[in-house]
Amino acid sequence: MRFKVLSLFPGIVEAYFTTSIMARAVDRGVVSYENIDIRDYARDRHRTCDDAPYGGGAGMVLKPEPLAAALDAAGAERALTLYLSPSGRPFSQARARELARESDIVLICGRYEGIDQRIIDLYVDEEISIGDYVLSSGEIAALVVIDAVYRLLDGVIRPESLEEESFDGGFLEYPQYTRPEVFRGLRVPEILLSGHHRNITRWRAEQRVLKTRKFRPELLEGPEG
Ligand code: SAM
Repeated sequence: MRFKVLSLFPGIVEAYFTTSIMARAVDRGVVSYENIDIRDYARDRHRTCDDAPYGGGAGMVLKPEPLAAALDAAGAERALTLYLSPSGRPFSQARARELARESDIVLICGRYEGIDQRIIDLYVDEEISIGDYVLSSGEIAALVVIDAVYRLLDGVIRPESLEEESFDGGFLEYPQYTRPEVFRGLRVPEILLSGHHRNITRWRAEQRVLKTRKFRPELLEGPEG
């Protein structure tokens, strides 16, 4: 899986790809990445990437020319091109699973008031929102999508760890406990110490339903979102 991330702040993105499990996935060749600084494609002396919005209003907009040049250099027309945007389609575990089947994904990180609409019209296959709130820029949103996707690839984490996770089958995960048996007066549920695997499986299944009903009742009503 190859990720290409276009951003004005590539340092944020670089740190992620060179740390922990992602760094190992890159070392082993499961993931490759290109971290593209949009400013490298600005042509004027000041390497300008933003300008005031037509029609007036506060803030600045990312200019189309540097972005288009960066997208052309990234081979965006041969990849699935995503723009991270609060007005995009809400991201989900189901969409992460679909994206994990792609081979090349280009992600555009916005800044300021966002990017010129013509870049979206010409290059973007999908606008993705990571939630109903506004971040100051798209790098963290891009990394959220990348993280949710790459951990599903073969060879990144053990397949067992992906089973019965939250959203698997439309439920949240059951509560997890580790040593010690008693912490600040709170005991680990007796059933988890019993060694009785069938009962533990049943308890966990019940807990998934209870937790889902409490925090995300809408998940019980329909297909996974
Ligand atoms: N003016 C835009 C609006 O009201 O929709 C917000 C722009 S935001 C300050 C700057 C950039 O952060 C966006 O272009 C986008 O790339 C990113 N961003 C902010 N919130 C996001 C979210 N919830 N999901 C994905 N990207 C987001």
